[in-house]
Amino acid sequence: MVTSLQAIAEPAGRETFLNAGSDAVLTFYLIALAAVSVFLAGFWRRFRKYRQGRPSGRLSWRRIERAIVDLASQRTVGKRDPMVRLAHFFVFWGFLVLTAATAIIAIDEDVIGLLLDRPDLRFWNGAFYIGYSLVVDVFSIGFIAGLLYLGWRRRQRPFRLDYSRVDRAGDSYDRRGYGLDDRVFLVILLFLGVSGLLLEGFRIAATGFPDFEVASVGGWLVGSATSGLGPAANETARAITWWVHAVSALTFIACIPFSKAMHMVVDVANLTLTDRDSARRLPAANGHLVGVESFTRKELLDFDACTKCGRCHEVCPARAAGAPLSPRDLILDLREWTDALRGVRLWYGPGAEPRHRDERQVAGGVIPAETLWACTTCMACMEVCPVGIEHVPTIVGLRRRLVDMGEVEPGLQTAFQALTRAGNSFGQPAKQRARWTRGARVTVKDARAEPVEWLWFVGDFASYDPRAQQVTQTVARLLDRAGTDFGILFEAERNSGNDVRRAGEEGLFELLAEQNREALAAASYRNVFTTDPHTLNALRNEYGIHEAAHYTQLLDHLVRAGELALGGLSGRVTYHDPCYLGRYAEEYEAPRRLIAATGLEVIEMGRCRENSFCCGAGGGRIWMDDSGLTERPSESRIREAVALGDDVSLFVVACPKDLVMYTDAVKTTGNENRLEVVDVASLLERATETEVVPVG
Ligand code: SF4
Ligand code: SF4
Repeated sequence: MVTSLQAIAEPAGRETFLNAGSDAVLTFYLIALAAVSVFLAGFWRRFRKYRQGRPSGRLSWRRIERAIVDLASQRTVGKRDPMVRLAHFFVFWGFLVLTAATAIIAIDEDVIGLLLDRPDLRFWNGAFYIGYSLVVDVFSIGFIAGLLYLGWRRRQRPFRLDYSRVDRAGDSYDRRGYGLDDRVFLVILLFLGVSGLLLEGFRIAATGFPDFEVASVGGWLVGSATSGLGPAANETARAITWWVHAVSALTFIACIPFSKAMHMVVDVANLTLTDRDSARRLPAANGHLVGVESFTRKELLDFDACTKCGRCHEVCPARAAGAPLSPRDLILDLREWTDALRGVRLWYGPGAEPRHRDERQVAGGVIPAETLWACTTCMACMEVCPVGIEHVPTIVGLRRRLVDMGEVEPGLQTAFQALTRAGNSFGQPAKQRARWTRGARVTVKDARAEPVEWLWFVGDFASYDPRAQQVTQTVARLLDRAGTDFGILFEAERNSGNDVRRAGEEGLFELLAEQNREALAAASYRNVFTTDPHTLNALRNEYGIHEAAHYTQLLDHLVRAGELALGGLSGRVTYHDPCYLGRYAEEYEAPRRLIAATGLEVIEMGRCRENSFCCGAGGGRIWMDDSGLTERPSESRIREAVALGDDVSLFVVACPKDLVMYTDAVKTTGNENRLEVVDVASLLERATETEVVPVG
């Protein structure tokens, strides 16, 4: 057996330039040289563009390791679409294996054979050749199958792959080039995969089916099908296909920097440098830089990394609400603009002439102000983007420029003035911040005057909004019932500045943060918690109090420690994950555990956990005018909850802003008698009753 395998392996191998004369070989190398030169020239233009950005300082071993895992598993591509992940997995690995296979031939033929002239060191033969053939063919077949699936899916015209803009009339732009680029890219890859297999089949048939070639499973099957043509016809077909395949592959290489294929290079770098925390802890303002230089190198990479997959476009609450914002289009507009300014060209057209030559016009010009103000900073785009693009910091960076130029949305301007004057967005006197304590029916300590175990950073909405105040009082009673030692900062607390910062008002954020830091430093406490998920983000990521907790986490801790006995409710409810508790703080379980502890069953909406849909309040949107929207995100969300069925009559929230937004939305959608919006804390208080209380 061993001897027969050896006998098969012994002659295994083939000539790269089978039956080609020296002129043909020389022609091939000249074309290859031209292709590589064009590739390098195109790549150099892009590289020059990236170098004009500010350094990002992102490179680290931890990120490299994560990127390797992301790429190898294609897990970021698989978000919300396992079939696309599988297809892309085969395409990715197929392409990698085929590229490695070509590199192996080049090393064996050109480096060892030609340059070093060491035939004794050549290795592309024998058992290695057989293993090589098997691996390459299996991956080729997977590569073709993956591409066929992706092509078929594209023909189904999913919403996310429709390049229509939400911010312009249909006749004011032309994006046919985008679709053409996608199709050409797909067809070229498919052509390379198929022509490679055909070439192999013709060769096997022309050379009489040597035993060792059975490892080339795909080629063997093709050769079996074409063997009827006879050896001479197969050899002619092989020679023609060889040239067609080789010239196509070299043309493809030359076109990479000028087409969608560039994402194969840029996305590797982008995934390596991406930092999801950049939305949680925003980077510092970039001073007075304008234009291309004002972006970081990572942002410039982001613009080129976009594959136009449209996932962010699909999930964006602003886009869904009819606002003139699509995160995909924002990135593509910045790409086209920076390309045009820096002379980067794409084969199908964009990049020829920038719409705005004045580099100061990026915020408010290239990206209109109403587009920038539409963002809720919900982070859904960043969560779903398969290539690690960071939309939120870029949008906030452009908002900062609008603020610097004095172009602030009117409602936002009013809020900024109130925050500057009173330290809260309601414009109420600081003395009234703790007014809710009067009706709480428990004693609330002053953490400035006596030490407490838990410092409660209440937050603006929980302190001032009459509806949210009731929940705040409920939380106080629950903590008192559990014997928790807690206190607040009374009038020393200020708005945390989380949304102020995300609205682009860096100076006001600094002022608020400084006042809060001073107040916190003057108090005596062991732990901090807050009612507001937005404030939680500021405490953890902007103020650096990493151990700060959300009130649902504290209550969950108390319930699990046996300090708070719950139960007695029955029925079905649905729960809404707030963006700043879910995607930002990655807390999905504590509120659900609390609801379950009351005896209620959570029925999930389709968009839940990291896929949750924003209420529309974040990023300062709660202060801005939303009358121009076709449907508010909160209304869309309420309709989603209503569609769960009549037996789901409670919409549970864990954020004071959600309470306000959704209480309004059940009214404006006419569901006041159908759905009750209730905070988790209110449910818990109901559940401290001992008898069974059916909800709804
Ligand atoms: S953060 Fe949210 S609202 Fe803003 S662009 Fe992304 S998905 Fe849209
Ligand atoms: S930004 Fe990311 S999610 Fe959006 S279209 Fe581009 S690649 Fe897809």
